[in-house]
Amino acid sequence: MTVDSRTLLEELRADAAAQADAASAALQDLLHDREGSHDDDEHDPEGVTLSSEWSRLAGLAEAATEKLQQVDDAIARLDAGTYGICASCGGPIPPGRLEVRPFAEYCVACAEKLGR
Ligand SMILES: [Zn+2]
Repeated sequence: MTVDSRTLLEELRADAAAQADAASAALQDLLHDREGSHDDDEHDPEGVTLSSEWSRLAGLAEAATEKLQQVDDAIARLDAGTYGICASCGGPIPPGRLEVRPFAEYCVACAEKLGR
């Protein structure tokens, strides 16, 4: 189980890192586009599109970074030998929950209590 969890978490970590990289690269591109289009466009018809695209990408980048953090925390708990143990009540986190959320920090009851 330990090996499987680590493999799973490392895959998730790679995914989240790739998502964070892709989102921040897209944000950089958007920034360049915006700078480039400044001079020749008085009406700025793309302004709204650009800013909604910007919010979308910023949201993606934020979500990916957050996920990366959660996965890193889970890997740290794996290293510390506390993986799969609820951080609140100290009880075991059901394997079914870890399958759905490999980075779960709390058991179902505590997660509900804490609103996670
Ligand atoms: Zn608990």
